[in-house]
Amino acid sequence: MTPTPVKEGSAAVQARRVLVLNSGSSSVKYQLLDMNDRSRLAIGLVERIGEETSRLLHTPLTGGDAETRERTGRIADHAAALKTAAEELAADGLGLDSPELAAIGHRVVHGGLRFTRPTVITDEVLTEIERLVPVAPLHNPANITGIRTAQALRPDLPQVAVFDTAFHTTMPEYAARYAIDVETADAHRIRRYGFHGTSHAYVSRKAAELLGRTPEEVNVIVLHLGNGASASAVAAGRCVETSMGLTPLEGLVMGTRSGDIDPAVTFHLKRVAGMSTDEIDVLLNKRSGLLGLCGDNDMREIRRRIDEGDERAALAFDIYVHRLKKYIGAYSAVLGRVDAVVFTAGVGENSAPVREAAIAGLEELGLVVDAGLNAVRSGEPRLISPNYARVAVAVVPTDEELEIADQAFALVGRAESAGQEVPVGQVDN
Ligand code: ADP
Repeated sequence: MTPTPVKEGSAAVQARRVLVLNSGSSSVKYQLLDMNDRSRLAIGLVERIGEETSRLLHTPLTGGDAETRERTGRIADHAAALKTAAEELAADGLGLDSPELAAIGHRVVHGGLRFTRPTVITDEVLTEIERLVPVAPLHNPANITGIRTAQALRPDLPQVAVFDTAFHTTMPEYAARYAIDVETADAHRIRRYGFHGTSHAYVSRKAAELLGRTPEEVNVIVLHLGNGASASAVAAGRCVETSMGLTPLEGLVMGTRSGDIDPAVTFHLKRVAGMSTDEIDVLLNKRSGLLGLCGDNDMREIRRRIDEGDERAALAFDIYVHRLKKYIGAYSAVLGRVDAVVFTAGVGENSAPVREAAIAGLEELGLVVDAGLNAVRSGEPRLISPNYARVAVAVVPTDEELEIADQAFALVGRAESAGQEVPVGQVDN
């Protein structure tokens, strides 16, 4: 995904920076990238927005040693958060008023079926993202706030939405539909959308590169194991199945989410335990998964407790791994031929015990992990299967921000190199 070079002599020659914004309900993460070499100029985070204990962490990466600066004290809202971040960037000579800024790329969680590609944000696009709030009540409102704030800051600049769901829009209908009454499902847009798509896209492409092949030549299973976790089956570069559904609750056991359960558990909790819908929502999204099972959602802490002989932690680990194994098996069947199983995100990149346990016993599927390779700590994409293994097992660090910057810059760059206006208003159907 090398961006098209901008024309010599065009006004945009200098504009080769992209600001990536990931706006959550109470936080904003940002990265400023130089698209000449796709390096980071600065990264930062504003958290606990709206509270007395707001905090900004800002790290400029242009000098020698990266030194993080911290600001504490109430930051009232997203606008104030972005303004504070802009001040920190300006202090490093990286002000957002710079003509070098080519675009602002926004992570947008839910793009429904409408947005299958990165899209330049217009009023109409924003209205469409708003229309999707009922299916992404926790995420899309925060993304919209981030977009509006950035628009106010640089109204002249293309703002590009990169959707978490986009990569999964290639799923065949038989994988995307729940087996429930079609009219009811369609009336409420109930279907499987999938999330973490930016990561699955990036990691599956990188995995092909690691194997020395093109994405079109390989079938891979990507296991994105962060605090949220999802699996995807990618055939010849296209997603054909993913574990998250209408919301990010379905699928794998996660840090605080249950993943798959019998939907009747929710009726039971309502009728028998007397819980409200909101209470059940909180239970399944925030008080379940590893946290609900053993009181900890951080895999490092769980491993430490297991080493001390803690049985609850050991059971939580086993439940987590068992679910992963089921998905690896299921996706092997979906793909028919698997070239690689790829681990990514916080747990996938760092936890050798999770990788070892998830692959253990899958020799019949051609899957083996080499203990020595698995133990190596590295920030680079790498194979952890022995040479003789029929299917590669790999670790590929994800980089959603780079993917968002690449996609935003490519979209803006394509238009400019073709001598066109940036296609503001382009909407994919
Ligand atoms: P998010 O979903 O918040 O983006 P990340 O991909 O950053 O999550 O993953 C965060 C999780 O990664 C932590 O909750 C922790 O369980 C796990 N993790 C991070 N570092 C390690 C490590 N060294 N060993 C095991 N697990 C780790």
